[in-house]
Amino acid sequence: MRHFDYHAPQSLAGALELLAMHKGKARPLAGGTDLIDHVRMGRLEPDSMIDIKKIAELNILELGPDGLRLGASVPCCRVYEHAKLVEHYSALADSAHIIGGVQIQSRASFGGNLCNSGPAADSTPAMIALGGKCVIASHSGTREVPVEEFCSGPGKNVLQPGELLVEIRFPARPANSGSHYRRFIPRNEMDIAVVGVGASVTLDAGGEKFLAARIALGAVAPTPLYATAASAALVGQPVNDETIAKAAAAARSIASPITDMRGTREYRLHLVGVLTERVVKAAVARARCETLVYRPGH
Ligand SMILES: Cc1cc2nc3c(=O)[nH]c(=O)nc-3n(C[C@H](O)[C@H](O)[C@H](O)COP(=O)(O)OP(=O)(O)OC[C@H]3O[C@@H](n4cnc5c(N)ncnc54)[C@H](O)[C@@H]3O)c2cc1C
Repeated sequence: MRHFDYHAPQSLAGALELLAMHKGKARPLAGGTDLIDHVRMGRLEPDSMIDIKKIAELNILELGPDGLRLGASVPCCRVYEHAKLVEHYSALADSAHIIGGVQIQSRASFGGNLCNSGPAADSTPAMIALGGKCVIASHSGTREVPVEEFCSGPGKNVLQPGELLVEIRFPARPANSGSHYRRFIPRNEMDIAVVGVGASVTLDAGGEKFLAARIALGAVAPTPLYATAASAALVGQPVNDETIAKAAAAARSIASPITDMRGTREYRLHLVGVLTERVVKAAVARARCETLVYRPGH
């Protein structure tokens, strides 16, 4: 492995100063579960790694009346161990449960999953479905970017040299809301999504009509997608198989998957329809406080 310097700043200001000083040649190190592999394989050659695990702002996990603040370095295990978060932002916990195994989940962060910007990243469709906004900081200030606009290509995103993802903010969950994330993989665990779908729905008080919906797709395009037409196909409509099938057809129409060793393009397109229907139905079940029985990852 190539030589690099290691810094562990204790403050956000310290991290931003180091990033500015290295002019794009330093890499933030969160859990390291992607970064170390990239460096070992020579895909990335940073001069320095800036350990961001010990910075308070990046470790925030706060659920209040205004919504959820999820620090970029918070590992998956803290997400699924937070009972209130699991109840109100279930799709995040669903994705946290299936990223690698227990050891990976103890280190791997939501910020790292997003900044690695893989098309099949499991937490990204869940964050898009829940309306997440990225808070990005640099030496010269902060800006916000919706999660669906963060990735710009496989392994690429909107971060400029010197910028750091600090946290992801999610709006408060309305009454009668439910969400879910599910992926298809050929084996039970330790694989990446052939297709992943996240959905969030809000129903009327009787649980019979969709008031709001957001559907997101993973592994079917160069970046994770916010399926706007599929989401709109649900809003204002009765909760039934016909409405949900229309949303699934709209989701299929924006997918542009590739054929690779995990599946053909046709197979993935079929899976988008199947998973969209299952995930929306699961989100509806949660919104109605019905028990949802499923095996994570399927
Ligand atoms: C065995 C194994 C199994 C895996 N299984 C899955 C899986 O099932 N699903 C899945 O989606 N992924 C999986 N992964 C990939 C990986 O674990 C996840 O992408 C993880 O969430 C990355 O988080 P991290 O904290 O380790 O990021 P790191 O490796 O520390 O960082 C990843 C990238 O993001 C950058 N970065 C990190 N934080 C920030 C920040 N705050 N601001 C700016 N840039 C930042 C880093 O510089 C680096 O380029 C697996 C990895 C392994 C090794």
